[in-house]
Amino acid sequence: MADGKPQHRAAQPTSNDYDANSLTHQFEQLMRTKRFNQLQDNARSRTASHSPAPMANHSIPPPSRAPPPPPPSMGAAPATAHHHSSSPSPALRGLPIMPSPPQDPASLKFFNLLKGLSVTPTKYENPGLLDEALCVIPLDRLYSEAEEESQIMQAQAASVGGKPEWGYQDCVIKALLRWFKRSFFKFVNNPPCTQCCMPTIAQGMTPPSPDETARGATRVELYRCSEPRCGAFERFPRYSDVWQLLQTRRGRAGEWANCFSMFCRAVGARVRWVWNAEDHVWTEVYSEHQRRWVHVDACEEAFDNPRLYAEGWRRNISYCVAFGIDGATDVTRRYVRNFNKHGNPRTRASEEVVLWSIHEIRRKRRENMAKSDQARLMKEDEREERELRGFTASALAAEINNILPRSLVGRPDAQKHADAIQEAQSEWLSARGHGHSGPDRSRDGR
Ligand SMILES: [Zn+2]
Repeated sequence: MADGKPQHRAAQPTSNDYDANSLTHQFEQLMRTKRFNQLQDNARSRTASHSPAPMANHSIPPPSRAPPPPPPSMGAAPATAHHHSSSPSPALRGLPIMPSPPQDPASLKFFNLLKGLSVTPTKYENPGLLDEALCVIPLDRLYSEAEEESQIMQAQAASVGGKPEWGYQDCVIKALLRWFKRSFFKFVNNPPCTQCCMPTIAQGMTPPSPDETARGATRVELYRCSEPRCGAFERFPRYSDVWQLLQTRRGRAGEWANCFSMFCRAVGARVRWVWNAEDHVWTEVYSEHQRRWVHVDACEEAFDNPRLYAEGWRRNISYCVAFGIDGATDVTRRYVRNFNKHGNPRTRASEEVVLWSIHEIRRKRRENMAKSDQARLMKEDEREERELRGFTASALAAEINNILPRSLVGRPDAQKHADAIQEAQSEWLSARGHGHSGPDRSRDGR
């Protein structure tokens, strides 16, 4: 099943199934629009402010500006030399950039942050831990669910003469995800009172006790029982240690993503832990069947739904970085297809520094690997880069098709293409009920 060709998906083309002609066509349109905008700007400046531009009736709106900067609490560093503008960064526009090491304190701080985060998935590479996880996971049940689902997919695919969308391994992850979300882990906003089970009220943070420190908690939230006759205090230590999470089995996005990623590793998947600068974390699992990294969010029981955050929850996003045992990748473009609409300014460091930091983390993780493995991973990086570039190109094309008057769209099939994308988008949104749970559930984020 490893050689399965990626399946065609209307809304999410991958590099392999991306049609080169259509890409060329989309770029032709891009250039046409640019030329058209220039002509219009010229016309506007010629006719001065008191008279409307000749084509005002169906003028193209200016490209939407990037959204407002993140709240100060996000700790965004001041913009560095290259990036005072709020336009989409060169990296997200697919322009070539040269990696360059951090020179100023803000850039260095961001690099150190990424380097620190990159350690998270290395903690999973512990046979004792993975064994313990396997003891907790009902493997027989998950394997038989996966077997059943993959057989159904095979039968469906055979009936139309195609290939199944997902392989058996992918179905194992889907079964793991269902079980993890529905039976194993609990989402905690305010922990209930352990004395009387009544709801509690947040009291702020409190220093960890020696025992909590020993078990790896660096932050402890304090709550108090809302029942006046009880009034007991309830502590909620935030554990980042996966061993602890096997015991406590509760938390918010941070604990969920950490524990679930480790479980994916335990069942033999290649896994990434994805950090988002706007306070969310999730998982990516490599699908051998589709030969690409697949978004998985345990909190949401979401599988291969990378547009959930930007388009479903209407979150603005600046950085999403995926960390795995083999390195790191800036995967923002997978989650933000249209940076004009859903991007937050990327001001923590210049794009040159971001790229350098990613390369540096990869270099560190791969330096002791066999040359053949290094070469394989480099090929994978390149393939993923093409996939990510394809997302940006198709989002641009969709936007242009949507803002251009019909008469300016060169070929009739271009409009059909745009319609198909639009339709897919609205189907996707309605299927998920417009971000039912996101913003509230993870208000405290990690
Ligand atoms: Zn109580």
